[in-house]
Amino acid sequence: MSVAIPETFQLAGGTWKVRIVSKAKMQRVVECFKDECQGACSVHKRTIYILDGMDAHTTEWTFYHELGHAIRAVLGYEDSEENHAELDGWASMVQQFLASKKGKL
Ligand SMILES: [Zn+2]
Repeated sequence: MSVAIPETFQLAGGTWKVRIVSKAKMQRVVECFKDECQGACSVHKRTIYILDGMDAHTTEWTFYHELGHAIRAVLGYEDSEENHAELDGWASMVQQFLASKKGKL
């Protein structure tokens, strides 16, 4: 099963990168020390980091969660703990939308 996440994408004219990284790299580059950390968003580096070795569904879901952080940052919204819970829901809905959309008007 291929993973439907891009290598790069644009937000408001800025190019963002997506990197699949080891746990050690994740901890090093994004100061993520939680064992359950599957992804991270560096606004400064315009880079989304996704933990290597997860199944395709979880990898995509994590990307959509981190994409939400990136979009919020570009729009000027501050991050908080509540945002993470909201973005979990957002990621699930975006993933469901993309997997279920059909037809073209
Ligand atoms: Zn988050």
